Parts: sequence; structure tokens; C-alpha cells
Amino acid sequence: MRVFEGAPETFPGDGLGQDGSAIPYIECRDLFKIYKRADLEVVALRGVDLEVEKAEMIAIVGASGSGKTTLLNILSGLDRPSAGAVRVGGRDLLNISDRELVMYRRMESGFVWQATGRNLVPYLSVADNVELPMAIARVDAGGRRRRRMELLDALGMGDKAERLPHELSGGEQQRVAIGVAMANRPPLLLADEPTGELDTQTAVQVFQLLRDMNRQYQVTVVVVTHYPGVAEHVDRAVHITDGRISSESTLRPTFQRPGDSVHEEYLVVDRVGRLQLPQEYLERLSIQGLAKADISGDQLTLRRAAKGARSESGEEAAP
Ligand code: ADP
Ligand code: MG
Repeated sequence: MRVFEGAPETFPGDGLGQDGSAIPYIECRDLFKIYKRADLEVVALRGVDLEVEKAEMIAIVGASGSGKTTLLNILSGLDRPSAGAVRVGGRDLLNISDRELVMYRRMESGFVWQATGRNLVPYLSVADNVELPMAIARVDAGGRRRRRMELLDALGMGDKAERLPHELSGGEQQRVAIGVAMANRPPLLLADEPTGELDTQTAVQVFQLLRDMNRQYQVTVVVVTHYPGVAEHVDRAVHITDGRISSESTLRPTFQRPGDSVHEEYLVVDRVGRLQLPQEYLERLSIQGLAKADISGDQLTLRRAAKGARSESGEEAAP
């Protein structure tokens, strides 16, 4: 691990591995997070494998309690995993010192929370809110002002710089929050249900702005969301079920007509061959406990095992 001293230029993470090959910007390998409370243990992440390329924009989708916030908190350096490996920009977040973690949070990753009130300092103007992270990073007044004006213009908030947060709508507050998160030009932007408190139309605008930031500044974006239409705004949607990545979906252009695209969904099979079947399939096939897998050519067929398969020896009858 290389030591770095504040200035963004000296950060590790040139995107090349030790052998010079391209490595993913975010790399999670068999990531576990176990929360211990008194005598109770909650396994929030149970073996997450995830790779995100530099300047990619992905969404993390999943039911409440599936581990989305836990994963995002680990990527942002707010929380530490219990086991596994997690690297962001070549930095190992499992074996990072507290001092490095502070710098990582300040310079490498920007964060937007769901609760609009959590993103902004209520008694500071929009302009001062966006400048605050730069002031903490000791950017000079001229540099702060230029960056703040550039960001607020890009976010369509240039004319509201002197307002206080409570004088803005929820959507406007989230736009400013994106400005705050992007102030120190982090290579990574994380957002945890940033549109959770917004109506659909405003949510679409916020996703569009995150996409604009992603394209304009080549910032890698990971956004946790419940918004069903998110696939249109991201490169890839990653589905998390019960603490593991279960499937991924993308919108692929068909090129038959301009703008046409098809929604493609894939199951994720990890390095040791584990896959998670969608609940709907389990219910339709009543698969539980034992299943039979048959391979034929390049196809794998999965069916439930016959009743009593566990106790019988030898071949059991097909269901
Ligand atoms: P999501 O964001 O997908 O709703 P979370 O990551 O917040 O899910 O939570 C995943 C699981 O971990 C849940 O069962 C939740 O109750 C548990 N959990 C989250 N944070 C804590 C904590 N600080 N202490 C104990 N359990 C936690
Ligand atoms: Mg959450």
C-alpha cells in the first residue's frame, strides 16, 4: 500500500495491477459483514462478489434489508467489512489505516444520502454548502468559488446559490447534495436511495444529473435505489438478495430502430459456481433442499429431486 498525503495527484489507483494489466476500479471478493449485537449476530453481507469499471455507472437494487446500505457504507469507508476483500482504486479498504480512511472519505468518495436533511448544513447557503468540503480540504477561496459555480451551473442551481436549504424543494436539495459530494472531484460517487423521498418526475431528473456527472467528470457512480425505471439511466443494474449479488440486468441497444433496446437479465455465477435462483423460480418448481442438474451440450437443466431422494440410494425417478 502506497502512502498518500492529501493531494489527489498522489493517490494510488492508476487502474493498473502490479503486472500492468487493467484491474476493475471497484473489486469486492467474497465480502462478508456481520453485525454483532449483544448475543445476536446479523449477517448483512454473505459473500458479495462485485466488479465495477472506472467511469461506469451502476445501480444496486434489492428488497429492504438485503444489504444495500451495508455494501455502500463499506465502499464509502464508513464501515469495515468482517471478511473478504474490497479494493477501490487499488486501495485495500480492509487493511487501511484510520488516517488513510479519513483521506479516502474526504477526497476519494462523495456520498449522497436518502434523507435530504442529512446532506446539507441547514444554516449554510447553497454556495457555502458546496464550498465546505473544499474548505476542509484547504482549497483556496478562488478555487472554491470557481468549482462551486461550475458545479451549481451543471446542476441547474446557479441562480439559487444564496438560498438556505429549507428554501429549496426536496429535488433541489438533492441536486445541491450532488454538488457537495462532487466538490473535491472524487473519482467515486455513492448515493444511497437519493430519490427515496422524491416523486417520480423529480427522481428521473436526479438520475439524469447523476448520469451527467458520470459522463462529464468520468466519475464512477454506484447508486442504491428502489426506482423501477433505473435501468434506463445506468450501464448496469446489480440485484442483491439476502446479502449476495444474485443477478444483473442491462439495457442493450438492438440497433433495429434508433433508441430501441432490450432488457437483458443474467444470473450471477461466482468463482466457485454458486448461483442464486430467483424466488419465483423456486416457487414454480418447488425446488428446496435437493435439485438435479443435467448438462447437455452448452445447456444446464435444473429440476427438483424426486421425493425421498435423500433417503434412497442409487438413481431416483424423475419428478
Ligand atoms: P438495505 O439497505 O438493503 O435495506 P441494510 O444494509 O441496511 O439493508 O441491512 C442489512 C441487514 O443488516 C438487515 O438485516 C439489517 O437489519 C442489518 N443491519 C444493518 N445495520 C445494522 C447494525 N448497525 N447493527 C445490526 N444489524 C444491522
Ligand atoms: Mg438501506
